[in-house]
Amino acid sequence: MKKYKLLTPGPLTTTDTVKKEMMFDHCTWDDDYKKITQDIRKGLLRLAHAGEEVYTVILMQGSGTFGVESVLTSSVGENDKVLIVANGAYGERMEDIAKHAGLAYEIYHQDYDKVPDAEKVAEILDRDDTITHVSMVHSETTSGIFNNIEEVTNVVKDRNRIMIVDAMSSFGGVEIPVQDLGIDFLISSANKCIQGVPGFSFIIAKRDALNQTKGQARSLSLDLYDQWETMDKDGKWRFTSPTHTVLAFAKAMEELEEEGGIPARSKRYYENNREIIRRFKEMGLETYIDEEHQGPIITTFFFPENAGFTFSEMYEYIKDRGYAIYPGKVTEAETFRIGNIGEIYKEDVDALCKIMKEFLEEKNHGK
Ligand SMILES: *Cc1c(COP(=O)(O)O)cnc(C)c1O
Repeated sequence: MKKYKLLTPGPLTTTDTVKKEMMFDHCTWDDDYKKITQDIRKGLLRLAHAGEEVYTVILMQGSGTFGVESVLTSSVGENDKVLIVANGAYGERMEDIAKHAGLAYEIYHQDYDKVPDAEKVAEILDRDDTITHVSMVHSETTSGIFNNIEEVTNVVKDRNRIMIVDAMSSFGGVEIPVQDLGIDFLISSANKCIQGVPGFSFIIAKRDALNQTKGQARSLSLDLYDQWETMDKDGKWRFTSPTHTVLAFAKAMEELEEEGGIPARSKRYYENNREIIRRFKEMGLETYIDEEHQGPIITTFFFPENAGFTFSEMYEYIKDRGYAIYPGKVTEAETFRIGNIGEIYKEDVDALCKIMKEFLEEKNHGK
């Protein structure tokens, strides 16, 4: 099969050295393996700028959604109610989780191209004191918008409620001072900005908030507290762990350090993202999100009007030349998405822009 690089929001293109780590079948109760798990947990705390006395880390089998579901269904108890702030499909997925588990919730919908209004969140919380938790997405991968988690977290913590952030597609790609912000639970996964392979999610949890979840999970496998209690003893996972993914992830964290940590990675993501946008605009392709709120992870572009070609034609053309792009996901407009996280560098941006230009020229000739 012909290889291509992924211009998607994850899984993403990883290094060969990360992939090579998986060529080893590790024993799960072996001390070396347990130490790898513990080192990963410590490393994640550092990346989150969170101190070990106040915060801890739980690794959870499954994709990112398993992590979000674990937090929501373990932390929102029988007498609790969660306010879900949603401006995209991942915010709405939290509602789906709440419905399935029978959690009490309210949802505040915002337009997909706007960040939530923190004052509106304050209003809702002041009006309804039965709301105990607030949950929102940081980088809404549906559109590429970067939500105002600082503002909303301030409002939530001022009112002493629990703050849950899905930072799936942003953690590791941009700095998030978790402790300074006072976030109670932050969720991300192995196959996003840390640049590992799929297989587990991780949760940075404030110890106080985690302790309150004891005994109230709606599910056995996704019981956040139980998972933490077992793992915290010596690094042994509660059930079979994705050993190959864990090894690859440890390597990916090392490589993040080698790159210069989150500041360097963030710079690379921002530069490549802004360059793609600049050059696509020159080709007449407009972004769905305004520059002010556009994150550095993935960009939604409007499909050209009367394009004379379909998304799959464009997709196949670009794929044949070495890159896989992503379809749009916003509901009200015809769009496509270009992700730029993973092993994507300036030369890939140049290559992509050249391919895109050729494609558009070819299509315009055909008209
Ligand atoms: C990737 C992602 C998820 C998790 O999706 P999975 O398919 O379960 O890995 C959740 N939220 C956001 C914002 C994401 O980008």
